[in-house]
Amino acid sequence: MDAREEALRQAHDHAVRWLASLSHRPVPARASVEAIVSALGAGLPAGPSPPAEVVDLLATACEPGLTAFPAGRFYGFVVGGTEPAALAADWLVSAWDQNCVMRAAAPAYAAAEEIAGAWLLDLLGLPAPSAVGFTTGATMANFTCLAAARDEVLRRAGRDVGRDGLTGGPAVHVVAGAQRHMAIDLALRYLGLGRPDLVATDDQGRIEPEALREALAAGGRGPAIVVLQAGDIHSGAFDPFPEAVRAAREADAWVHVDGAFGLWAAASPAHAHLTAGCADADSWATDAHKTLNVPYDCGLAVVRDTAALRAAMGLHGAYLIHDAQGDPVDKVPELSRRGRAFPVWAALRSLGRSGVADLVERLCRHATAFATGIAGIDGASVLNDVVFTQVCAAFGDDARTDRVIDRLLADGTTWISGSRWRGRRVLRISVSNWSTTDEDVARSLEAMRRAAAGV
Ligand SMILES: *Cc1c(COP(=O)(O)O)cnc(C)c1O
Repeated sequence: MDAREEALRQAHDHAVRWLASLSHRPVPARASVEAIVSALGAGLPAGPSPPAEVVDLLATACEPGLTAFPAGRFYGFVVGGTEPAALAADWLVSAWDQNCVMRAAAPAYAAAEEIAGAWLLDLLGLPAPSAVGFTTGATMANFTCLAAARDEVLRRAGRDVGRDGLTGGPAVHVVAGAQRHMAIDLALRYLGLGRPDLVATDDQGRIEPEALREALAAGGRGPAIVVLQAGDIHSGAFDPFPEAVRAAREADAWVHVDGAFGLWAAASPAHAHLTAGCADADSWATDAHKTLNVPYDCGLAVVRDTAALRAAMGLHGAYLIHDAQGDPVDKVPELSRRGRAFPVWAALRSLGRSGVADLVERLCRHATAFATGIAGIDGASVLNDVVFTQVCAAFGDDARTDRVIDRLLADGTTWISGSRWRGRRVLRISVSNWSTTDEDVARSLEAMRRAAAGV
């Protein structure tokens, strides 16, 4: 065995042990940053060490400092786990070490991206042939889509942003629901568009179409972008797309949808109705590292107007070998060398159409079990109307809810995040892991009952 193979075997053995521990280990990390620094050793070694020993030290020293994010009992954020085919494909991505920027240099990557992109459009019910760009996450997917939107609405107003920039050009009126995800504000800030004009939402965070119409009318007839949401991180609610898209169209606005996890409802016959009308938008951002359960980092930017996306994101360098069909790099802001589409292809190839639908339905079923279980706990109440994959609950007043959250985190059986929603302290559950079992849900509910008892 050469040194490389020995190091890979070492990594494989540790990885398998880590994955096997997920069903029973406590979710929070047991060791502090300082303890891990001391176990790894802070001093720079004077000389070389065998690679397998380095991998062994890394795995052994870090193990107590690892949080069981991919465990079936982690519900703190929408994270997903790692679907087996996607995880293994991701190992190959590291070994292959392709520079996935151009078709000419990385034909295998371009092929996987092309197939995965077409499958995603099909599963998510989005119009073909939209462009599908593979980003680091939904934040950058929102950024990518909104960059195409910004440049296109300004182009229609006679401004070439690529040539003349934003300074001195017409203002872009960006309108979003009051409950939009903060990633939207971040993307707009990166794009020099400032804060969005916020429109009233109902008690579940859904945009009010009439308020949207009024906000657009108040903004005049200039370039406009409307940002809608498929899946609120607290309530799981979806904007009323048919009415909201109609209001946006009346104002000639570009319609963008942030559907980081919610867009996946379209892949399940039982939940597709939640996204009705969503496909009439101009662009959509979603994540593969959430609901699809591929390893970090992987978001998806989908844009109907492929030329607008290419104009905003295309790279034009003399030493690059450009392909007339467009290169992977022309659809995303960063020069990705990471081969993100390979694990996505593997997850989709492994699950198939029915497997993706089953995955979404299983997540919703577990979320419903949480909602039902919590409603039966003394003093607890579920605050969301519709249960998709998110559950928001309070355990009485803010102080009591806080104590329950603290006790739950100290218990370690499960990880659920505290948040504030509609003026109240809440406990938020995000079900996004393919490997969560009925047993995981039952144990987590039992931990909640323990935490709520006697506080
Ligand atoms: C998670 C999330 C984002 C941000 O996605 P990242 O992958 O963390 O960049 C944006 N919008 C919504 C609705 C989300 O749930």
